Amino acid sequence: MRFADDFRFSEATTLHLGGRPVGAVHCATTPALAAAVTRADALDLPLLVVGGGSNLVVADGDLPLVAVIADCADVSIDSARGVLRAEAGAVWDDVVASSVDAGLGGVECLSGIPGSAGATPVQNVGAYGAEIADVLTRVLLLDRTTGNVDWVPASALDLGYRTSNLKHTDRGVILAIELRLRTDGLSAPLRFGELARRLGVNAADAGNTRGALRRPAAAVRDAVLELRRGKGMVHDPADHDTWSAGSFFTNPVITDTDVTSVRAAVARLHDDTVAEAMPCYPAGEGRSKLSAAWLIERAGFVRGYPGPEAPARLSTRHTLALTNRGAATTGDLVELAREVRAGVRQAFGVTLHPEPVWVGVDIDG
Ligand SMILES: Cc1cc2nc3c(=O)[nH]c(=O)nc-3n(C[C@H](O)[C@H](O)[C@H](O)COP(=O)(O)OP(=O)(O)OC[C@H]3O[C@@H](n4cnc5c(N)ncnc54)[C@H](O)[C@@H]3O)c2cc1C
Repeated sequence: MRFADDFRFSEATTLHLGGRPVGAVHCATTPALAAAVTRADALDLPLLVVGGGSNLVVADGDLPLVAVIADCADVSIDSARGVLRAEAGAVWDDVVASSVDAGLGGVECLSGIPGSAGATPVQNVGAYGAEIADVLTRVLLLDRTTGNVDWVPASALDLGYRTSNLKHTDRGVILAIELRLRTDGLSAPLRFGELARRLGVNAADAGNTRGALRRPAAAVRDAVLELRRGKGMVHDPADHDTWSAGSFFTNPVITDTDVTSVRAAVARLHDDTVAEAMPCYPAGEGRSKLSAAWLIERAGFVRGYPGPEAPARLSTRHTLALTNRGAATTGDLVELAREVRAGVRQAFGVTLHPEPVWVGVDIDG
């Protein structure tokens, strides 16, 4: 354990925003991480476990909490069995790269997602038609209500679309994850049209649930990284377009009845052709998933909104990413988030929900 008295969230988050906790402790081993959390809990100290800081919106100023930083980063791979274990603090994209190098398939679509391995189940990270739930077998969990450390199956985490029963709770800390990967070196089924086309798969066949559409994992990883870089979705400290928390809002899931009224609102604001073209995907019994980015754009928010002078802007490459151009405060970012959410609500009657975890600040004020 190493205590740091100069820790600032603005230096530990991909938004490069946030103030100063009362204390910070770096934990280089799994037992140290468990001990730091257990000790703080015993003392009733509010704490925040921090991985890569890529899904955090943290308030400006002084924060009444201790930051517990997961630095434990061992990764072990049994290539013959396709079993990969990573400690919580391992950099997720390094884990993906190691798995591909070891000839294993299954997580290549999740290439380029910033952050730590331990945080991947927290919001069931997903991209390009894959999610961690597809390959996660179990996690080593510190249960903060009992202090027990046990391997628990992925099925106990209620993994859903960008959520789990750990997100927005103080229930537990993931100390390590275990994945079961394919040993034939092929990717997960290519379900995402844009990625499939990039890899020469017939777009009409993408989404084929028989799972025949696989490609070598290394080729899929390269294609995913290229697509993500084009959208500013690989964090790069030298590029303000990537000083974000990734997708800022989740794609809204609404009832099929509500889809009809949203379509009508789109037709009123635009025309029938635009309304018919609104992306809409089945999301379980009587429900559909819309595209948050599409709604934001159709509500009138263009890339780079509100303009080149603003300290917090929409990314110039992706309307779903809210970015800090270098001099923003969390206050600036929150103001922009509220404006975008209000604009979409006013235009189409849909309330967008933020994807990141908010600390010491709230979109509802
Ligand atoms: C450019 C960019 C692109 C992104 N693209 C995607 C994407 O395609 N898909 C996607 O799903 N996400 C994406 N994200 C969001 C983010 O990268 C993921 O949610 C990531 O898993 C967060 O990991 P982290 O270690 O940075 O978590 P942090 O931001 O450090 O923490 C996030 C939350 O998880 C908790 N937490 C962290 N570690 C643990 C642990 N070991 N145990 C329990 N709780 C923990 C924290 O307390 C906090 O509540 C993107 C972000 C950025 C900046």
